[in-house]
Amino acid sequence: MKSLSRQVAKAEESQTLALSALAKKLQSEGVDVVSLTAGEPDFPTPLHIKQAAIKAIENNFTKYTQNPGIPELRQAIAEKFKRDNGLSFDASQILVSNGAKHSLYNALKAICNRGDEIIIPAPYWVSYPQMVNLVDAKPVIIQTTEKTGFRMTAAQLRRAITKKTKAIILCSPSNPTGSVYSQEEIEALAKVVKETDIYVLSDEIYEKVIYDGATHFSMGSIPAVKDHVITINGVSKAYSMTGWRIGYLGARKDIVVAAEKVQSQTTSNASSISQRAALAALTGGEVELKAMTAEFLKRRDFIHSAITAIQGVTCVKPQGAFYIFPNVSHYFGAKFHGSTIKSCDDIAQFLLHEEKVVLVPGSGFGSKKHLRLSYACSMADLEKAAERIQRGFKKLQ
Ligand code: PMP
Ligand code: GLU
Repeated sequence: MKSLSRQVAKAEESQTLALSALAKKLQSEGVDVVSLTAGEPDFPTPLHIKQAAIKAIENNFTKYTQNPGIPELRQAIAEKFKRDNGLSFDASQILVSNGAKHSLYNALKAICNRGDEIIIPAPYWVSYPQMVNLVDAKPVIIQTTEKTGFRMTAAQLRRAITKKTKAIILCSPSNPTGSVYSQEEIEALAKVVKETDIYVLSDEIYEKVIYDGATHFSMGSIPAVKDHVITINGVSKAYSMTGWRIGYLGARKDIVVAAEKVQSQTTSNASSISQRAALAALTGGEVELKAMTAEFLKRRDFIHSAITAIQGVTCVKPQGAFYIFPNVSHYFGAKFHGSTIKSCDDIAQFLLHEEKVVLVPGSGFGSKKHLRLSYACSMADLEKAAERIQRGFKKLQ
């Protein structure tokens, strides 16, 4: 039989989605597992947002919409970018897609040619290198460590740039480390971007989930690089709307036109009903969002101290998003029931089988020494998970 696509064969399935599906399957079979896998807020979508969607259905707003999104949502997004991020976009420079994941893919497809290099600082979100492979470009990984709070320096960026570099993917606040770049750090990176004339895909989906007085700064607000930056965001995380699938980007007009073309020939518009819901989210104030973030902060403090109380485990305190990324390499070489722990994947397997906790090994995020725990679940689940993880590591001591 004829072979299938080599590009797709090279790509891996999303580990975050695969492991959260595994946790759901085990739960449906009656196994008492706790899942700290997907970054999916456990809160219901706020009522006024759901009501906007119900109204859309009742009013028969259930047909195709304009491919790049309904005009009032594009306008609301342009206003949001201005209000929150200091970005000046006309509504025509906004593309609404089926989740920020789709926005990222459309943007990469719009700018990449075969062999282009896309720089990705590690630890990275699982999907970045895979998407780069899917558009036939080449991921170039810059390793960052705890020493710099998992933030890439301008010098590191400069060293990684070659003639083939097309863009860099920046994620602040970061999934999986929770690190947040300061304005000064973004400005230093922007200087390199300007000098080397590359693009930036700035993934700002966690901008609202931020703690300890840290502030989010959008690179696209720096006039010298505004035409280089594609700013990506969405409603999944801030408004607990993961299932509604609305993401968006703002960029230079020709980039948006190219991304629109990709979308028009692949998926067409995002759901009409979800667009109305997203409009209600972006124009409906931030009361629920602030309450959710306050709750995430409590959970972060709880899980961070529970995990760092484990002998030998260290963890940078995240300033944003809802993940912690502890270093568990102290346990490499430990033995359990005759087998040796060699990697974070082994520890994740051990915790699954021995303690019934599902979490994501760091290997999918570009680090073999870490685990990623999502604390977007309930406090009760988090307490249960912490107890089990602590007990599990005791068995390895
Ligand atoms: N970027 C990052 C860093 C994420 O963690 C996610 C989570 N899924 C996304 C983008 C995409 O989110 P969505 O497609 O739900 O908008
Ligand atoms: N972004 C979330 C995560 O990292 C959701 C899963 C996904 O889209 O990969 O867990």
